[in-house]
Amino acid sequence: MSRAPDEGILKEAGAEVRSSVNWRGGLLLILVSAAAMTVSARYHLFLRLGDFARSHRELPTEQMFSVLIVSAVLGFVLVVRRSRALSRELRLRREAEDRIRVMALHDPLTGLANRRKMHEALVQAVASRRGAALLMLDLDRFKPINDLHGHGVGDKVLKAVADRLIEVVRDGELVARMGGDEFAVLLTDIDSPEVAARPARRILQALEQPFQIDQLECQIGGTIGVASTCNEKLDPETLVHRADVALYRAKREGRGQFRFFEEEMDRQVRTRARLELEFRHAVAQGQVAPYYQPLVELATGQVRGFEVLARWLHPTDGMIMPDVFIPIAEDTGLIGEMTLSLLRQACIDAQGWPADTMLSLNISPVQLRDKLLPDRLLGVLAAHGFSPNRLEVEITENALVSDFAAAKEILSVLKSHGVQIALDDFGTGYSTLHHLRELPFDKLKIDRSFILSLDENEDSRKIVDAIISLGHSLGLTTIAEGVEDLQSAERLAELGCEMAQGYWFGVPKPEAYGALGAASVAPPTAATLAFAETRRARSSAR
Ligand code: C2E
Ligand code: CA
Ligand code: CA
Repeated sequence: MSRAPDEGILKEAGAEVRSSVNWRGGLLLILVSAAAMTVSARYHLFLRLGDFARSHRELPTEQMFSVLIVSAVLGFVLVVRRSRALSRELRLRREAEDRIRVMALHDPLTGLANRRKMHEALVQAVASRRGAALLMLDLDRFKPINDLHGHGVGDKVLKAVADRLIEVVRDGELVARMGGDEFAVLLTDIDSPEVAARPARRILQALEQPFQIDQLECQIGGTIGVASTCNEKLDPETLVHRADVALYRAKREGRGQFRFFEEEMDRQVRTRARLELEFRHAVAQGQVAPYYQPLVELATGQVRGFEVLARWLHPTDGMIMPDVFIPIAEDTGLIGEMTLSLLRQACIDAQGWPADTMLSLNISPVQLRDKLLPDRLLGVLAAHGFSPNRLEVEITENALVSDFAAAKEILSVLKSHGVQIALDDFGTGYSTLHHLRELPFDKLKIDRSFILSLDENEDSRKIVDAIISLGHSLGLTTIAEGVEDLQSAERLAELGCEMAQGYWFGVPKPEAYGALGAASVAPPTAATLAFAETRRARSSAR
């Protein structure tokens, strides 16, 4: 019901039109003949003609009647032929109109209904007294297939997806391709939004099965946002907007699932849209500031450096944390500018630090596609007379997955200028031993999730132990994040971890030396000294 009728169906429709036109022509002929006979009988036309011939014997009446009859027959034949030609023209026009209508309402690639047809169906659905639900579906991992294997393969995948959707939807459910890799399914005549959960699950399961395209096995999947009119009357635009909002949320929470729209999501989307607009000025106006968290050497308690953590000091909303605005910075393309602005401010702040104190800067995965990144960073360092040997960049494992070759090139250039490279959040992403061997890392940062659960989770302890051993065997320094208490710090030191960072040593602060846990102005801090003291006491007692 949601696919375009094919050529065969169109031909059948044409034949139907043609036969109905012929049938009508025949009927018209019989009616005209019957009417002529009736008129002749009613007014005794033939008798009168006989009378006329008898009273005008001087005229060639026989010939006149013959001419009259032949003309009538000829006229009749002409009318029949003209009506045939007209009906043919009519049929062709109807066929063309049918085709145009089909094209205007269907997606030429997949044959599914298009956005316009879905809109028409939505207008009807929201006008109905019963409820409707709209499922907005976005394909997962489609873009890499398109990029890697070309649009030909991409098109075949989209067609195969359309086939699967047609297979899993029920009668009366409309499937449409809304554009790109976005599809929609409309359920009508439903009483509660929960009814949509079942088709949503069916669709996701169907898309999880691999697609065999030529010699290629493609593993894609889908994410769905659902909105319905069961509990309130909505116009089609609002219904689509809500399904989009739910889809956006589902994608952010981890693809491969479906989410129902909630009012709260709408508020968050609006806030994000506002922040996105405001962020454009925030960087230029210096509202994004560096906060510093100390990086501590466990053996001595010495502060070896500071990690720069960005804070958006918003004029009305107060302090906004990076997990809110870094995605905005990435999406708006302002992340590069923001990083350089942070580095400039940090270089100025670092002028008052001990000369060997390191500065650790987070680099987002999207920045590793910018070939000019090394030049830009080194340019800022040069402008402030800050040695590249004192800069460390932190990249996450996921940055290596999207374009390993580009990441390798950028990191190698930085490394050749003396910049150190740390692999951040280690243990949570997708990096492989191959990445560790191929890239010029200096440091592994053990993700804080393992450290925070070090005490209560035996597995975390084993993982941390394994990461430290791995780091040592590859000649890398290991640093643990999220150290919140003395006990964890001690444990890490015993496991051979060289460095640590966390609230116990110092929370991120706008002034580096204000970041230290105790009110010390120079390293080591009271907290780190206490730690070093405990360790010394322990080892002399053994
Ligand atoms: P990250 O690089 O893993 O940074 C460490 C995060 O852990 C920081 O969160 C820090 O405040 C927090 N943290 C430090 N010690 C502890 C602790 O003892 N316990 C707990 N529970 N947390 C601790 P923050 O500042 O909110 O930053 C979050 C993430 O935002 C960072 O994670 C980083 O991925 C990103 N980020 C921050 N600044 C920047 C930046 O300038 N550029 C980029 N690209 N990303 C940034
Ligand atoms: Ca970091
Ligand atoms: Ca981290």
